[in-house]
Amino acid sequence: MKIKDIYMQKKESKKPVFSFEIFPPNSKHPIDTIYNTIDELSKFNPDFISVTYGAGGSTRGRTVEIASRIKNKYNIESLAHLTCIEAKKNEIDDILYKLKENNIENILALRGDHPIDREPIKGDFNYASDLITYIKNKNMDFSLGGAYYPEGHFETNDLMDLFNLKRKVDLGAEFLISQIFLDNEILYRFKEKTDKLGINVPFAAGIIPVTNAKQMKRIFSLSHCSISPKFKRILDKYEHNPEALKEAGIAYATEQIIDLVAWGIDGIHLYTMNKIDTTRKIVKDIEYIIK
Ligand code: FAD
Repeated sequence: MKIKDIYMQKKESKKPVFSFEIFPPNSKHPIDTIYNTIDELSKFNPDFISVTYGAGGSTRGRTVEIASRIKNKYNIESLAHLTCIEAKKNEIDDILYKLKENNIENILALRGDHPIDREPIKGDFNYASDLITYIKNKNMDFSLGGAYYPEGHFETNDLMDLFNLKRKVDLGAEFLISQIFLDNEILYRFKEKTDKLGINVPFAAGIIPVTNAKQMKRIFSLSHCSISPKFKRILDKYEHNPEALKEAGIAYATEQIIDLVAWGIDGIHLYTMNKIDTTRKIVKDIEYIIK
């Protein structure tokens, strides 16, 4: 099923679309390690599960394999991430055919990040919108989504980023998933602006439960997510108390979700970090809110 149609169905029942993100294990680990995770996640009945696409290349082949398993073994819709930075058209074609062969109907079309430790390789695409146009023109009947940044994308000023997002939607992104953020008010203000611009596709909020201070500092720096004063107090107090930080991080994410759903967000996309326990705790506390 197309994710845009899941959004339509859920809108009728006035419930948010509830989805998970997972990432493929790195090449040092057998692919099976993620299958136990999917086994457990499937029990929480998500509307779809997305699988990231490794920018570095080493786990790229695994995205299709894992997305295929989600769809064909568990009968849960899967969303395969696909980046186009440094990619040639024939490489993208290869993946599109594999996705089609595996019955996968949904792609999160992304640009990917520029390399920071070497010269970039010239590819055939500059932006996610180029990838969207390319896939659309192939008429392969994929439902395409795109990324958005409630705090603005770090490379572009806020206004231009909004216009670029509008272009991405006008060219074919049918639903949007956000970068992580810790202050819901930022997303609400962003949404006022996208409404004014007439960006009328479903918006999902990407929520990350912070459970580990070191890992989180890396993720916040890579994603350019700012640390809200409320969250900073938690980090300052519990940074060296892993159990307490985990508990507070889960409660914080849960509270964010409850507020977003009450506000009327179209979807909640939980960055699970492949962690079952954390996901289980959150799902248990929002059971009646999302279903
Ligand atoms: P774009 O939409 O192309 O935007 C990139 C920048 O270019 C923005 O500043 C935008 O304003 C600007 N821009 C866009 N179009 C134009 C134009 N025509 N002219 C001038 N400027 C323009 N990365 C991975 O490697 N693998 C993943 O699986 C992955 N999954 C992600 C999932 C989500 C939900 C999110 C939010 C991000 C994900 N990323 C992933 C990270 C993403 O690749 C980076 O954030 C990247 O820097 C931007 O990707 P994009 O698709 O948003 O790019």
